[in-house]
Amino acid sequence: MSAEQGDGHGDEVQVERAGDHAGVPDRLERLWTPHRMAYIGGQDKPTDSDAGPGCPFCRIPGLGDEEGLVVARGEVAFVVLNLYPYNSGHLLVCPYRHVADYTDLADDEVAEVASMTRTAMRVLREVSAPHGFNLGMNQGEVAGAGIAAHLHQHVVPRWGGDSNFLPIVGRTRALPELLGDTRDRLAAAWPAAQKG
Ligand SMILES: [Zn+2]
Repeated sequence: MSAEQGDGHGDEVQVERAGDHAGVPDRLERLWTPHRMAYIGGQDKPTDSDAGPGCPFCRIPGLGDEEGLVVARGEVAFVVLNLYPYNSGHLLVCPYRHVADYTDLADDEVAEVASMTRTAMRVLREVSAPHGFNLGMNQGEVAGAGIAAHLHQHVVPRWGGDSNFLPIVGRTRALPELLGDTRDRLAAAWPAAQKG
């Protein structure tokens, strides 16, 4: 990791990168090289809506934690880093079962998705001290679900100043950490009782 990527989440990091974007475009390019590598080497969008290896959220639990960016495994649900994060530490809580609609979840799946969402908030607070969160699930492609066929709850940590002009102008986000590093920190902080 280069020095300019840093390891913090402070507002000053965001401000500095906003300036970089305006003045030194090739530095932004380097910032994003590792992220593109994650796209190339990791899970891509599904080719259809079926369960099985074509669905990233069906495939990920069969991978190792580090390869799949899995943070925690429960009885009926698991927690994984989003490969297309809005912010550093953007987590997805998914049932193992290939279910699209929230109303089709079984009671134990509803309960574990909820409890893992709460644990994810606690772990993120411990590891990276966000000022707030966006929680929720997009139901259907029309509502913005990237992988509509397999339900996933977003847990997005938010910091003051993280919505500066960079995402709008650059159509991207400044992410201070590589995904693997983020996974390691969150997995280490996840309570042992829910590591599965
Ligand atoms: Zn699936």
